[in-house]
Amino acid sequence: MKFCSNCGKEISDAAAICINCGAEVKPETETVDKANTALVVVSVLFPIVGLILGAVQRKTSPNAAKTYATAAIIAWAVSFAIGFFIGLVG
Ligand SMILES: [Zn+2]
Repeated sequence: MKFCSNCGKEISDAAAICINCGAEVKPETETVDKANTALVVVSVLFPIVGLILGAVQRKTSPNAAKTYATAAIIAWAVSFAIGFFIGLVG
C-alpha cells in the first residue's frame, strides 16, 4: 500500500489517481533527482565524464546533473591549479 500525497489516505499501489480525493498519484518508480556518490567520485577523477553526465542528465535530473558538472569543474580547476603551481616551482 502507498499513501496519497494530497489527502494522506491509503490507496492501492496500482492506482494512478486517489480514490478518496481524485488527486493524481505519482508513480513509485519516479527517479530521485539526487547525485549518485559513485558517479560524483568518477566526475572528480575524470572531469570529462562529469561534464558528459551533467549534459546527459540535465533534463531528467537537473540537480544531479549540476552536482556532476560542478564536481568535474572543481576537480579540473584544482588539477589545473596544481599543475600551474608545479610549473611555477619547477
Ligand atoms: Zn487523496
